[in-house]
Amino acid sequence: MKKVGFTTTIPVEIIFAANLIPVDLNNIFITDNNPHTFIDFAEQEGLPRNTCNWIKGIYTSVMQNSVDKVISVTGGDCSNNHALTEIFRSEGIDVTTFNYPYENKSRYVSLKAEMSLLADELGTDLDTVQKFQGNLQGVRSKLKRLDELTVDNKVSGFENHLWLVSSTDFNGDYLSFEDNLDTFLDEAERRERIKSNLRIGFVGVPPIFTDLYKFLENKGVHVAFNEVQRQFSIISEKRDIVEKYLDYTYPYDISCRIEDINREIKKRKLDGIIHYVQSFCYRQLQDLIIKREVDVPVITIEGNEPGGVDARTKIRVESFIEMLEERKK
Ligand code: SF4
Repeated sequence: MKKVGFTTTIPVEIIFAANLIPVDLNNIFITDNNPHTFIDFAEQEGLPRNTCNWIKGIYTSVMQNSVDKVISVTGGDCSNNHALTEIFRSEGIDVTTFNYPYENKSRYVSLKAEMSLLADELGTDLDTVQKFQGNLQGVRSKLKRLDELTVDNKVSGFENHLWLVSSTDFNGDYLSFEDNLDTFLDEAERRERIKSNLRIGFVGVPPIFTDLYKFLENKGVHVAFNEVQRQFSIISEKRDIVEKYLDYTYPYDISCRIEDINREIKKRKLDGIIHYVQSFCYRQLQDLIIKREVDVPVITIEGNEPGGVDARTKIRVESFIEMLEERKK
């Protein structure tokens, strides 16, 4: 079966329904034993140093022949994907674009048209995709259970991050993914609760740091919310495949995200929020709105390369934790 790579979460049901293997290109980059070689390769090929490293990782994943076709999300994800699509095409790579509609007006109609076009491009149709979507509902409900166990302090923030972020492509095989998840949930349900002094949430793109969760856990902080990773797992229980992806907040305007974040802060009793931003990412501009509209204290931290948290960020996060602890007294 051919592998179809994509630059961010897309309706993966379309790829499975077309009997193809989905591959999240971000995951190839970040799960590699040496992701720095991806960045070096991209820079040697001529990608500017001041480009987001996720883009360099995606570029190298594709150029090193990991997939047969690429779906580039040019609407609702990353502004860099336009130029990346042009680079891939100039290299003779088979690329199809996918656009989440930005405007609220006629969003259902526009998204349905995009999904139909993609289905057609991959050799299937939306009716087949609609019928297929029920096959993923079981595993999606189990991911929801995993998220509830995180709120209940039985699953760590890092475990939550890892499972939810992997659900963008289900590691290419949703049946074995579900089997492994069953085993994990069975063990997690029987665990003692994680002890913590504070509960915080992460908002923003998944952090590129490798030890951030561990650093927080060692300080007695439980990460009880991973905003974007949770969205990646497509939590909507609606049966209509188009509506399901309309409920996914990440690609649309920030107001949908703010509403979701504030609802979850209340539900999960969060003391504070860490807004993670990636160097050279246009989404950093949204920090202004997040700080203004989120209902608990927010600290913004920035990462660039894969690796451990730098000393300066550690000091800032420690001060933030102390401030939250003082606030709770
Ligand atoms: S972190 Fe920002 S700049 Fe980088 S790929 Fe994601 S959206 Fe694009």
